[in-house]
Amino acid sequence: MLEGCCPWPSELAETYTARSTWENLTFGDVLDRSARHFSEREALVGVSPVMGEVRDTYHDLKIKADRLSLQFLRLGLRPLDRIILQLPNIPEFVYIYFALLRIGAIPVMCLPPHRLSEIGYIARHTGAKGYVIPSEFHGFDYLELAKDVRETAFHLEHVFVAGGEAPEGTIALVELLEQPLEKDYPEDHLKVYRPNPNEVAVFQLSGGTTGRQKVIPHTHNDYVCCCKFSALMIGFAPYSIFLASAPIAHNFSLTAPGLNGAVYCGAKTVLALNPNPETVLPLVEAEKVTYMNGVPTMIMNWLNHLEKGHYDVSSVKVIAGGGFRVSPHLGRRVQQELGCRLQQNFGMGEGFHTCTRLDDPEEVIIETQGRSLTPEDHIKIVDDDGVEVPLGEMGELWARGPTVIRGYYRAEEHNRDAFDPEGFYKTGDIVWQDKMGNLTVAGRNKDMINRGGEKISAEEVEGLIIGHPKVLNTAVVAMPDPLLGEKSCAYLILHPGETMEFEELKVFLMEKKISKFKLPERLEVVEEFPLTNMSKVSKKDLRKDIADKLANEKGNPTLPGSV
Ligand code: AMP
Repeated sequence: MLEGCCPWPSELAETYTARSTWENLTFGDVLDRSARHFSEREALVGVSPVMGEVRDTYHDLKIKADRLSLQFLRLGLRPLDRIILQLPNIPEFVYIYFALLRIGAIPVMCLPPHRLSEIGYIARHTGAKGYVIPSEFHGFDYLELAKDVRETAFHLEHVFVAGGEAPEGTIALVELLEQPLEKDYPEDHLKVYRPNPNEVAVFQLSGGTTGRQKVIPHTHNDYVCCCKFSALMIGFAPYSIFLASAPIAHNFSLTAPGLNGAVYCGAKTVLALNPNPETVLPLVEAEKVTYMNGVPTMIMNWLNHLEKGHYDVSSVKVIAGGGFRVSPHLGRRVQQELGCRLQQNFGMGEGFHTCTRLDDPEEVIIETQGRSLTPEDHIKIVDDDGVEVPLGEMGELWARGPTVIRGYYRAEEHNRDAFDPEGFYKTGDIVWQDKMGNLTVAGRNKDMINRGGEKISAEEVEGLIIGHPKVLNTAVVAMPDPLLGEKSCAYLILHPGETMEFEELKVFLMEKKISKFKLPERLEVVEEFPLTNMSKVSKKDLRKDIADKLANEKGNPTLPGSV
């Protein structure tokens, strides 16, 4: 396995394989199989910035991905090379993703909102050799970003551009896709590069709870396993039509079951450029979408918009909600207003995943986040001392299994804390389990803000704020938000005599070039922080403080310091 990654112990790997939980398939094999069985069936619908509307059959998809694989090889990319993939939901993402996986190169799943602070670090940390960007998206110039990334990421050899102009020193993807390669095309040539299914397929990024984002190495075996079981639980079949409107690079849209699951089953994926109801609902009607997924905020927006619009969404069979707790109220609305099934999902980039089953009793679907995906998943629910609590009691969830990584990439020291000696990943989520095995997520004890499904590491933002010359100490905490669930609030202690307005903090952080969603959305300047018994900053008290303040201000539309 790639140096810096932690393989599963061989006895577990053998068990997973013996039970066919791991099928020893690569994603190249998965695409080939669907192209063989469903050659003329539509696999992908989306809008490319260069080609306009694209409708690819499985045959087309395979040809495009294979062509790109050969082009990447010609350009010198090799197995285990890391390539940062920072594209929105456009067809080019899918071609590049499968092209890289086929030759064993590793796509690093970055999201469009990531900026220099994140991409620069990830490029250096992974030693990325390539970087794939749109030229522009949502008014942001990624060509400029790539220039900045290049200045410190010395391994970076190629910048590939999907759409618009590809200036000197970059490569236009459309040209790679269009260049005929008939002479070099014998499929056997690619077979030589078929990776070992136990090798790293994809690098995901953790939401990050301690400082910088951690890199999550998923193998072909574990990632195929995740999409296969998820697809089974949600009922994907060859005629299913999956709408991906959350970022396609995120685990939820990619492999739970997502694009991977759709390709695994020979289903169709429809890419929506954004999750706005104005984009999503017409697509659902036009494409007769049967499955969609989203975080609660997205689902709530769709439902609210449906009340106003006239869309026929009767084709939808299941809406999968996750990334944040789906409230019982929202869950009921989905089932009543859409007449479809809700599936609750709980999971994480590290690979652990639970979901409700479609035939579960109503109260399980509405109230719980379901049970683990595979028969080989093991969980512990533990108290603060790491001791398992009795069934039904609340504790921190630790998990291991055929989809859960055994360690982050190049993070030996952090891994010692993040995993227990038996290889269980400490999720930091507080859950309880019922007799049927269903988990209910009750909170978390990790230092993270979940902004409508987008995760913010408090420590990362604090690390930047503390660099402000006026700031003596800072603590970033979650504050409740009716739409997004949570937003982040920065508490500051300033040097004596100093003052700070919210705008000043915002400008300071923007200059650090972090993703916009990580910016605090409220500032509280205080004289001192509440402390725990161990004299640490009590974030629990700060969270309560801001929640109380917000509750008191309810009804007052102009919140001080809010944006
Ligand atoms: P990510 O790795 O970005 O997918 O974030 C994973 C984290 O999101 C989990 O560890 C949870 O804290 C949170 N999360 C995911 N799904 C749910 C859910 N259904 N309910 C509550 N929290 C969730």
